[in-house]
Amino acid sequence: MNTNHSESENSELKLFDDSPIQAEPFQVEVIRSKKRRRTVSAQMHGDVLRVSIPSWMSKAEEATNIAEMVRRFKRKIATQEVNLTDRARILAKRYSLHTPNDIEWAENLTSVWGLCTPSTKTIRMSTRLVGFPSWVLDYVIVHELAHLHVSGHGPDFWEITRRYEKTERAIGYLIAKSGDNETDLD
Ligand SMILES: [Zn+2]
Repeated sequence: MNTNHSESENSELKLFDDSPIQAEPFQVEVIRSKKRRRTVSAQMHGDVLRVSIPSWMSKAEEATNIAEMVRRFKRKIATQEVNLTDRARILAKRYSLHTPNDIEWAENLTSVWGLCTPSTKTIRMSTRLVGFPSWVLDYVIVHELAHLHVSGHGPDFWEITRRYEKTERAIGYLIAKSGDNETDLD
């Protein structure tokens, strides 16, 4: 008897739900510091995001900086809720794909949703996927896993990627989200 069986089945069920990767709200505390000359910093203390701001900053600059920090921390918290390693492992097994050596969130991926480096078998996922349904996230993972087998986007690549049932639907979703920006998968 394999005692892990029911556990892995449970985690597979969660893969196809429609729940977005949620960002929970939290409180913000602003500290205006005379010592702080140039940079804005932020740290979570329990449920409170404490933002330190140089005292010379205008209210408008303060608001812009706080909004940026809140956005960044919400993404960070939301991405921590998602176990990319488990998800990639389950998807790789289901679609007979290689398992990556490493798969991590990246804040600095701005022009692509995901990035695969086949030489090191590593995958980076854009934190801008936060708020998207999990079946879209899974498509991006499968897309990048497929690059562990095939580079480029030829027919052999799509043959592998379309093992994932929601590939077309997810592509449509991502195109709609990209708008005029040239956000694409690499
Ligand atoms: Zn690609």
